[in-house]
Amino acid sequence: MKNVLFAISGPSGVGKGTLVGKLLQADPDLTLSVSCTTRAPREGEKDGVDYFFLTREEFLARKEAGDFLEWDEHFGNFYGTPRSFVWEQLKRKSVILEIDVVGALKVRDSLSDGEIVLIMIVPPDLHSLEERLAGRGSESEEAQKERLTRVRYELDKRKEYDYVVVNDDLDKAVERLQQIVATERKKA
Ligand code: 5GP
Repeated sequence: MKNVLFAISGPSGVGKGTLVGKLLQADPDLTLSVSCTTRAPREGEKDGVDYFFLTREEFLARKEAGDFLEWDEHFGNFYGTPRSFVWEQLKRKSVILEIDVVGALKVRDSLSDGEIVLIMIVPPDLHSLEERLAGRGSESEEAQKERLTRVRYELDKRKEYDYVVVNDDLDKAVERLQQIVATERKKA
């Protein structure tokens, strides 16, 4: 059994976090990568668990050194996937990057063929996701529209992914993910 690097993406509201949580819980040989960020820790967040919290200087130095498989700026802060940390984790376990479509495609481009397996979680249909997002009620109509445009963009990128898993039934989707993990671990 070899250790495999997976990126799991999916539009907001699709239940990706829950699926990844269940996957990790059921498989001690799987672990989640920890990203670096320059934003301040929120209440309860732990360094090295939720994120590696870096200063801007530290982040930029590591970026210059080529230590990010990808990085991006969100809300004025930097976020990146640390190459050396992921590689260290891969010595012991298979690793999941829970990462958006843009980030996942960037990581794939920075690696050789076959070094990462991309999995996208999709809703059974866009309409049901629209209803779920609207049901959150915490967002303005403008913000909801923006989110939907992003969802459509992300779903459109599914063609570039290795696997697409429909989250119509939670247990079935977890099973499907476990099959994918097993299949990829067996590949030479
Ligand atoms: P938050 O600050 O709320 O934890 O995350 C803000 C945004 O940063 C989210 O959209 C999250 O997906 C994104 N993010 C977290 N880690 C990474 C990373 O390693 N790389 C990139 N590109 N984005 C990240």
